[in-house]
Amino acid sequence: MRRPIMAANWKMNCTVSQARELVSALKGLVSEVSGVDIVLAPPFTSLPEVAKLIADTDISLAAQNMHWEESGAYTGEISPVMLKDIGCTYIIIGHSERRAYFGETDDTVNKKLKAALHYGLNPIVCVGESLAQREAGETTQVVGAQLQAGLAGLTADEVNRVVLAYEPVWAIGTGKTATPEQANEVHGFMRQQLSAAFNEATAQAVRIQYGGSVKPDNVAELMAQSHIDGALVGGAGLKADSFAGIVKFEG
Ligand code: PEP
Repeated sequence: MRRPIMAANWKMNCTVSQARELVSALKGLVSEVSGVDIVLAPPFTSLPEVAKLIADTDISLAAQNMHWEESGAYTGEISPVMLKDIGCTYIIIGHSERRAYFGETDDTVNKKLKAALHYGLNPIVCVGESLAQREAGETTQVVGAQLQAGLAGLTADEVNRVVLAYEPVWAIGTGKTATPEQANEVHGFMRQQLSAAFNEATAQAVRIQYGGSVKPDNVAELMAQSHIDGALVGGAGLKADSFAGIVKFEG
């Protein structure tokens, strides 16, 4: 049985005071929740403040991006060691917005993933096809290639520590959600890929989140699918009551 994992990616939203308000409200709403991993990914500037606010909870802290080197002449970058130092335990890698706007490639995803594992951060690795790719019938080809290149060189034990997020680009921030069946089909395909590349036990153990316009009112049917183990949430993660509703998907 895979433990559900719900993560809120705040993207480039919230000042420190807004972060404080959001986390304070959320803490009250999810204090009774158990059996679900809850992860918050605020912008870098709010990480230390959110770390303090969640110190007395089971909520985990994630960064939205990092460099793969420990330190050095990389102006504007943040290293895995720095993230660990301020209390991050998760790192989002290869989000489609980073791939589309900031030159993230499968190769940089692979470097960041190896660094995350080396420095003891839990990676959430994002994959997903564009609308044109889906319409051209290339979904499994695209997702398969992203998985293969992104996880290249990892052992099965290392892959067991990875969380994958299937995020069809056409469903992110658009209000269009993949149907639960569409999402589950791709998640099932991803498990087949993991089984072929690593082993069946790993394929069954790895948690795969769905991301793309997840809301409190569609989360339950997504979570009812056999291969969906959680959600990576954008917009609905910016409102305490919406994200709490997603976290409590069974209710
Ligand atoms: C995301 O950015 O990962 C995402 C899924 O966004 P949204 O929930 O807003 O579609």
